[in-house]
Amino acid sequence: MSIYISGIGVSKGIAIGEAYLLAREQADIHQQILSPAEIEPEIKRFKQAMQLASQQLHDIKKKIARNTADDILVFIDTHLLMLEDPAFDEGTIANIREFSCNAEWALQMQGERLMQVFDEMEDPYLRTRKDDVLHVVKRIQTALAGENDVHDGKSYKGRIIVADDLTPADTIMMQHQKVAGFITEYGGPLSHTAILARNLGIPAIVGLRHARQLIHRNEVLVIDGFTGVVINSPDKKSLKYYRAVKRDEVSKRNLLNALSGKPAITLDGEQITLHGNIDRPSDIRAIKKYDDTGVGLYRTEMLFIELNQWPDQQTHFKTYKRAVKALKGKPLTIRTMDLGADKEIQDTIDHGPMAHNPAMGLRAIRRCLKEPQDFMPQLLAILRASAYGPVRIMIPMLTTTIELNQVLTLIEEAKQLLKKKNIAFDKKIPVGAMIEVPAAALAADAFASKLDFLSIGTNDLIQYTLAIDRIDDEVNYLFNPLHPAVLKLIQMTIDAGKKANIPVSMCGEMASDTLYTRLLLGMGLKYFSVQANALLEIKHIIVHSTLKNLQPEVKSIMQLHDEEEIQSRVQQLVNLL
Ligand code: PEP
Ligand code: MG
Repeated sequence: MSIYISGIGVSKGIAIGEAYLLAREQADIHQQILSPAEIEPEIKRFKQAMQLASQQLHDIKKKIARNTADDILVFIDTHLLMLEDPAFDEGTIANIREFSCNAEWALQMQGERLMQVFDEMEDPYLRTRKDDVLHVVKRIQTALAGENDVHDGKSYKGRIIVADDLTPADTIMMQHQKVAGFITEYGGPLSHTAILARNLGIPAIVGLRHARQLIHRNEVLVIDGFTGVVINSPDKKSLKYYRAVKRDEVSKRNLLNALSGKPAITLDGEQITLHGNIDRPSDIRAIKKYDDTGVGLYRTEMLFIELNQWPDQQTHFKTYKRAVKALKGKPLTIRTMDLGADKEIQDTIDHGPMAHNPAMGLRAIRRCLKEPQDFMPQLLAILRASAYGPVRIMIPMLTTTIELNQVLTLIEEAKQLLKKKNIAFDKKIPVGAMIEVPAAALAADAFASKLDFLSIGTNDLIQYTLAIDRIDDEVNYLFNPLHPAVLKLIQMTIDAGKKANIPVSMCGEMASDTLYTRLLLGMGLKYFSVQANALLEIKHIIVHSTLKNLQPEVKSIMQLHDEEEIQSRVQQLVNLL
């Protein structure tokens, strides 16, 4: 009998194959009290286990395919770096000495301490780093037990792996052996398995609690990475249906892949610019994997978050130069730091008491203008990077023209400083602003007249327009890009750009959602900056759209007041494809 169970689909695609249940229970760790004479030999045993764990990871790196992308190898490198981090070995050795205990127990204590640090982080991505600590601790514990944690049997081919959780090393090794898909009991959309599976293009479902009790060895499974559904022992009819879906999926992928490197031109000949969004220079590889294009939004705050402090000018410069070089002549739009609301660094910087409502507080450009001595190194570095390829400066969260004038003055000062020192930079570097505060959209004409481009940040524009905190799950249901007020603000911004003859782009999530592409084209948007994995899907819609047919349709949608009616008319535009 077929059984349907569901988890969270985190990597799209259909996989059909036999279940491979991965049993990897760790023996319980007990505290043992050592005599003074046993302490040094225990430390030696621990150091040997560290070496063995490190050797295993190096072996995995050697074994995996030569063409494995660097951004995938980064996951293994993160674990190797952790193994070298004094926080691991010095902390554990100090525990062995202080508590006269066995290495396993000392390591467990140290691991829990480190995991707690990550667990308390606000940023959801950094919180998932806790998994790295857990995986590294497990690997050393296994090495202490004298075992090898590398799952490199030959029997994974074509199978669907069912596990409690997978380490990045497991995931990569299994991909190397051509597994069909993954199911894990733990993890969410940001877990390593999820990120890696998406990168590797392997269907995956995570967070399927008790999967290893519900699924039996060698049972045939269908996993639907789109919906998160797993079918256990599918009947003939379901198998036939999913095989057909899989075939369609493969042909759709091939169709999209054929668009890579082709221009995004509508059927009536309008050239649309399609760029990608990145958080760090290494994300450029993900963009290049889909299309040879530029970056319309580089969120530089990740640099601050990962360093946990304001970087110095040289660190900024080296990072931006790396991104410019990786883009090989394609434009890089560097957004100056936007810290203070949903993204924050830990408490190394004292900004006084936590704001009551940080989204409306001292964030982004407000914070940079309050502390120009910290902002200046970033501006100088962006200018210096512009000597190596096309760079644009983008200012987040501008609200008033007073702020705009202050920013322009600071940029001018930075230019003068570099000129005096004879340091090269692009004298005509374009400066633009994000339109993400309703006031800025309403006054977009004023900003457009002084800037080289505008970019609509719908994530914030929607939160401020509809008065809903974008990270508050309780009010998430109100988040609607199709609210007529939001659409009017977007239209005003596009029109202001047109009047001032400057480009207007959209880099918020709305631009990455294929549901809105035709609506935005009809509104006159000519520049999209989207998530890497949405590049080809958005391009597919662009090249199958005729602007002059969309314009009157969209004009009539813009007259509507009812959100459900707007939703259904927008859906009809998509269905025209
Ligand atoms: C936005 O607000 O739409 C945006 C792109 O910026 P962020 O999501 O980084 O706030
Ligand atoms: Mg924003």
